[in-house]
Amino acid sequence: MGLKKADIILTDIDYILTMDKDLTEYKNADIVIKDGKIVDIGEGKKNEYYGKTIVCRNKIAIPGMINTHTHAAMTLLRGYGSDNPLKVWLEEYIWPAEGKFVSYEFVRDGTEIAVYEMLRTGTTTFVDMYFYENAVADVIKKVGIRGVLSTGILDFPTPGAKTPDEGIQKTVDFIEEYKNNAFVIPAIGPHAPYTCSPDTLKKAYSVAEKYDVVYHIHIAETEFEVKTVKEKYGKTPVEHLDSIGVLSERTLAAHMVYPSENEIDILSEKGVKVAHCPESNLKLASGIAPVPDMIQKGVTVGIGTDGTASNDNLDIIGEISTAAKLHKGFKKDPTVLNAKEALLMATRWGAQAIRMEDKIGTIEKGKFADIVLIDIKDPHLNPLYDPYTQIVYSSTGFDVDTVLVGGEIKVLNKEVIPLDKDYLLDKARYWKEKVDQIRK
Ligand SMILES: [Zn+2]
Repeated sequence: MGLKKADIILTDIDYILTMDKDLTEYKNADIVIKDGKIVDIGEGKKNEYYGKTIVCRNKIAIPGMINTHTHAAMTLLRGYGSDNPLKVWLEEYIWPAEGKFVSYEFVRDGTEIAVYEMLRTGTTTFVDMYFYENAVADVIKKVGIRGVLSTGILDFPTPGAKTPDEGIQKTVDFIEEYKNNAFVIPAIGPHAPYTCSPDTLKKAYSVAEKYDVVYHIHIAETEFEVKTVKEKYGKTPVEHLDSIGVLSERTLAAHMVYPSENEIDILSEKGVKVAHCPESNLKLASGIAPVPDMIQKGVTVGIGTDGTASNDNLDIIGEISTAAKLHKGFKKDPTVLNAKEALLMATRWGAQAIRMEDKIGTIEKGKFADIVLIDIKDPHLNPLYDPYTQIVYSSTGFDVDTVLVGGEIKVLNKEVIPLDKDYLLDKARYWKEKVDQIRK
């Protein structure tokens, strides 16, 4: 029998957690990659193929993880003005810094630092909303991670656009430029129901429908928002958005801390997806999203970090660990959001949240070879009774050893190959000095 040609063969993997619909697992098995996709998985597959071989003993393979909500460039404001009341933090720190500095260069440099951290900790796809998304796209083209990118559209002038119509037009141009790109995936990003008029929200939604892209929006993040929307429109945020027809399976709602029971029913009926950002919600004292209730009613929930200014890191394993423990404590029920469900939020459910479940989110034949290998040869991950609980409760993103995106090796032996660490540290220092000037 002749051997079949492969590009990369990952061999001798201790556990492969495919996260497919049956949660199929393999032990001491191999993953075969060709043309950027997974072509075979299982025990002894290494004996059927020839190609570049990477021996993966003492490792667990999981699908590349998906961060369903972030503002990558805000990494340049990581830790800036922390522990202040929300109003002070925004008005005296974040908005002045953004107003003064957000530019193509700021977004490019902040995104590079963010992408380094994301790859290093096992994220292979991130969902972004910010300004100058062309800079984010340029970083993606250089580095080779996947990004679902949306320009923040607001009713007042932003660093990217003077009017919401200009923001929408920029989005349309961006969609045209990147349609059918496997790495830069355009989306539309009306900011929130309290910063966008119904007219802006509806115009943005018609673009999402016309071009078949994700409608990425913050919804029901704070009590302030719920109160503001109620006063203005006589309805709570989800009811308001439903009444103007912008909720569907293409809507990705970040945060969703305050849906009423009726609103959870609406989310479920309309197929709205939720990006749960527990650490940001805790740090900004926004509240706790009713995630177990939403999951129970059939709402798809992915995990997000939000920007690092309010987290303050992009470690998805840390985020699902927080989520799993937060909801157990809040519900006083240790069976809530178990380790498998927590890992699903970062993988298959995250892929469903951005409507890419046919391409990413599981280790299955035919999917893109977006794969993460976690190093378990370390005392803090042993003894190992159950690989899911070990990932969610014992490891952090920094236990990630190897990352492939589309069959290309991006992290090997915990080194991020496409980015230079010293260069990024210099950039971080450069921007810190500039931002520090504001309050001097
Ligand atoms: Zn956000």
